[in-house]
Amino acid sequence: MKNKIVEVRELRSLVNRSPGFAKKELSDYKLDIVALCGFGCLYCSSNHGNFLRINREPFADLTEAQLGQRLLPADDPSLMFTWRDVVRQLETELRRKRAGFGSGKTLVFSMLTDGFSPKLVADGTTRAVLDLILEHTEFRIRILTKNAIVGSARWIQYFSNHADRFVVGLSTGTLDDRWAKRIEIGTSSPTARLRALHRLQDAGVATYGMLCPVFPDVLVDDGVERLVDAIKPDLVEHIWAEPFNDRVNWRVVRKGYDLGSPMYGWLTDVYERRNIDRWSAYATELYQRLREKAEVGGWMHKLRYLLYEQHISGRDAPMFEGLAGVLLQSKPDEHGHSKNPYMTNLQPR
Ligand code: SF4
Repeated sequence: MKNKIVEVRELRSLVNRSPGFAKKELSDYKLDIVALCGFGCLYCSSNHGNFLRINREPFADLTEAQLGQRLLPADDPSLMFTWRDVVRQLETELRRKRAGFGSGKTLVFSMLTDGFSPKLVADGTTRAVLDLILEHTEFRIRILTKNAIVGSARWIQYFSNHADRFVVGLSTGTLDDRWAKRIEIGTSSPTARLRALHRLQDAGVATYGMLCPVFPDVLVDDGVERLVDAIKPDLVEHIWAEPFNDRVNWRVVRKGYDLGSPMYGWLTDVYERRNIDRWSAYATELYQRLREKAEVGGWMHKLRYLLYEQHISGRDAPMFEGLAGVLLQSKPDEHGHSKNPYMTNLQPR
């Protein structure tokens, strides 16, 4: 996919704390080096996050001025927002940090975008940025990407040269390459991502599993179990998994499905007709099957199931008894308890 590139105004700082990802136990800090990802996954939550929402109109103005078309991120998956001189800005920022900055902490690269977006890899930005992080900080760096290039000999060598600094994950919620082509626009296919993951594992690079998001159609037959097997649970440090959560973008996601297909019907039923119990049943079954697989496989301690629990029904809540491997993600009440009374009952007092 050829990106339509628009330069937008820079951020004050690039390396920042990441409370959202800390809650998911993924990272303490984050580094994004573009404002809008070079890939265009239809379900991407970043387009609906604070940063792009607040800047929607100014960025649309810049898009119109630079491309001659007033496009929004949700209109065109090829749109990419970049910052000027990101490498120089990062270097200036890091040189001001105290010695030992990042010691004992994890930095995710990246959180809201993909730092291995093809343009950034091709023009050397990705490599230059990682070199700076290695040189000026002591972070452990969590690579999170959908670009299989991380499994190339050149990148494996790079990660191996700094084996104590990197852990690499390729987000893969399906084994279906045709599905991914329609929904995860411009990314490497799941087959290529898994091949890359296996190459990294074979080379001894630390890896983790990122099954996010797993759509309901993966529940058919043994889809969940095959997906888990594909990331080789014995070899990864942890496995994160998450059901699809609507970010006011379900209509955009639905456009990726054929009218009349089961997923088109599911999205319509859950979000248009507000049959939210269907979402609850799906999120619960996904958890149960992951948990069963983890218990049988002896890797329950690795499971991190990310659950925005507000829509879990009273009927399904007991299936989460003990909350083993579950990280509740919905905003809690002032006492730190889930606002969903069925889930509050499951939390330790
Ligand atoms: S690769 Fe990640 S950040 Fe980029 S569009 Fe897809 S989901 Fe969003």
